[in-house]
Amino acid sequence: DMSIRDELTGVYNRRFLMERITEESVRCLRSGSVFCLCMLDIDFFKKVNDTYGHAAGDRVLKSLARLLKQRLRDTDIVGRYGGEEFAVIMNDTDASSAAKVIDEIRNVFSRLIHLSHEEEFSVNFSCGLADLAHFSDVASLSEAADKALYQAKQRGRNKVVVNVGD
Ligand code: GH3
Ligand code: MG
Ligand code: MG
Repeated sequence: DMSIRDELTGVYNRRFLMERITEESVRCLRSGSVFCLCMLDIDFFKKVNDTYGHAAGDRVLKSLARLLKQRLRDTDIVGRYGGEEFAVIMNDTDASSAAKVIDEIRNVFSRLIHLSHEEEFSVNFSCGLADLAHFSDVASLSEAADKALYQAKQRGRNKVVVNVGD
């Protein structure tokens, strides 16, 4: 289990996530079903660490991982992609349905009150997503989700943006 889990948060690690994305796309392209890739990135997380400390930052990461696991289906795959970036694979779900679910989680997460030495603060994330119906290979799918995430940041953060291509 250790080799597929992220130590801090307990969700899947990047390597396992990448393997699953590849497997899912092969499966979906064969069966004609769809899946959605969601890339989440905590907003201004460096500031959180700088202001409230690294330990508080770690607790924020854990709280997001916990919320994702709680709110998503058992069949959804949650992983930590890197530092303050998470990815979610939603099977048999198109990007617009996935966006509704993630936006609800975004809303709940942004209302959580975190504590550091009796100081209260809140944190939010941005998310970009794309599905296999609009991007038909792994490389363009993850590039599309990344691009949408970048747009969510540019448009002011604390947002979910869907990439449906052009
Ligand atoms: P943006 O809204 O543009 O995403 O800004 P940001 O500050 O979130 O992005 P940036 O990439 O500048 O900073 C990410 C920060 O995440 C910097 C790094 O110290 C912190 N970080 C990465 N991994 C961990 C971790 O495991 N624990 C903690 N506490 N912080 C981490
Ligand atoms: Mg980042
Ligand atoms: Mg960030």
